[in-house]
Amino acid sequence: MSSARKRNKNGEIKSDCPSPTTSPKSSKDFDRPQVCGPAPRSADEDAQKERDQIDYSIKISLDDAKAGKAPRRVRIYADGIYDMFHSGHARQLMQTKIAIPNSYLIVGVCNGELTQKMKGRTVMDEKERYEAIRHCRYVDELVTDAPWTLTDEFLDYHKIDFVAHDEIPYGAIGSDDVYAIIKERGIQNILSISVLGFCPVQANIKNGERCSSAACYLRPVIRRQNLQVSIKSHVSKIPVLANLPVGKNYKDHHSLVLTYSINTTLTSNSNQDDIAEKLEYILHRRGRYSSTIDGHVFSKMPMKGTKKAYPNIQIEFLRKSRGFLKLKSRDPLVSPLINPNAFSQPIDVSKLISGIRLVQSFERTKAWKSLDARLIRMDTTNHCDRLPFNTDAHWDCIIRHFADNGGHQTGTCRMGAKSDPTTVVDPYLRVKGIRNLRVVDASVMRNLPSGNTHAPTVMIAEKAADLIKRARKLKIYK
Ligand SMILES: Cc1cc2nc3c(=O)[nH]c(=O)nc-3n(C[C@H](O)[C@H](O)[C@H](O)COP(=O)(O)OP(=O)(O)OC[C@H]3O[C@@H](n4cnc5c(N)ncnc54)[C@H](O)[C@@H]3O)c2cc1C
Repeated sequence: MSSARKRNKNGEIKSDCPSPTTSPKSSKDFDRPQVCGPAPRSADEDAQKERDQIDYSIKISLDDAKAGKAPRRVRIYADGIYDMFHSGHARQLMQTKIAIPNSYLIVGVCNGELTQKMKGRTVMDEKERYEAIRHCRYVDELVTDAPWTLTDEFLDYHKIDFVAHDEIPYGAIGSDDVYAIIKERGIQNILSISVLGFCPVQANIKNGERCSSAACYLRPVIRRQNLQVSIKSHVSKIPVLANLPVGKNYKDHHSLVLTYSINTTLTSNSNQDDIAEKLEYILHRRGRYSSTIDGHVFSKMPMKGTKKAYPNIQIEFLRKSRGFLKLKSRDPLVSPLINPNAFSQPIDVSKLISGIRLVQSFERTKAWKSLDARLIRMDTTNHCDRLPFNTDAHWDCIIRHFADNGGHQTGTCRMGAKSDPTTVVDPYLRVKGIRNLRVVDASVMRNLPSGNTHAPTVMIAEKAADLIKRARKLKIYK
């Protein structure tokens, strides 16, 4: 390797790789990144050369790109902060790089000042973060000082064909979705996978039984000396150290149970004569008796003014209305006031009605017809019974009387940039203005996920454990 190394005038190793424009000999070559030097920065000669030879007037469809039919190299953009660069980051970049044959992966990294303003402090300084990215084998080019929000000029200058990000709007101060511009321009997300449709339900199952977080995580380590679990605790005396918007931004899903009568006994309980299934469970702790419910439908109902590709109906409902919780009294033993503000936004009612219509459309299927499935009316005397059955007005009334919360309360200790007045904890889950206090639960979620909240909460807790371990290690180093 040493004989091939040359240094530029700054003393940096100059790559002797063949130019990325070299025609690949086989489709395998497309996927294999060159690894004989760090990736150039956008202003470097190699990157410039690569950019210049791209005919950006040739637009490439995602299908063609994925099928390896693109007539030129496909330029993909990913961005981030990449603090303490780790295998998870590298893996995300690898997935991005290999999603498309003959791709050229450009990675944007935000500088220190912008990151601190929008998100908080980093452990690595910007130069270290840039260099970490340049030395990742999947990266073809680095954009330093990357913008927080993409602009037309930026996309055109870098000739970006596709981006790699999740579909859920990523908020920043002053913007609900920093990727809005790319969606408007129709630039597709190469990592997008359809989350709509039917799927089996995933659950935490251990040895054929549902395993709660307490059973899975806590009980195995409950005897550790450095763990204190304090149940039924009540904080009664604390001086006010910070005035934060705790309790605002209360979000949840809505749910409405529709009940159908059928002409047969259809149950998954153990009264059935299904010996094989029972033996499977008894002997191997597997099979239908080890599962929870059978399936979920995630659906996107067409609503006026929304084009987003993530689901808003799970036959559970993502709502727009936002509630709050606040102290009701100075007495710390008095329960707080919780106001979910349900259905304060009329669109939430329309969404539920379109969900009901979706369920009703199943009545026309062969399977449901064979069961003679009939909707059981929910109206009762003086509760929606005077409205013509099955009209939107009828369902509006039913929803307002009978819909329930989704059990997915989130957002009341919102996480975000220190300078964002709507947040309670910083991106390291530390309560703003108070030392040595973190919040680690569903309340820190910035926005309500489209699906259920248990798994994201566990993910937040796993991340918090990593953050705390890392902070301790850094303290020891220092
Ligand atoms: C009925 C129901 C069904 C659900 N089903 C699903 C599902 O199928 N899938 C899914 O993904 N999500 C589901 N969820 C949502 C999921 O359970 C929550 O999002 C998740 O548990 C939130 O975790 P958390 O740590 O924020 O809060 P919690 O899990 O509620 O944890 C709070 C903990 O604090 C303890 N606590 C409360 N007060 C005190 C006190 N004074 N002193 C000490 N400890 C206290 C509580 O005992 C509890 O252990 C469901 C929720 C409900 C209500």
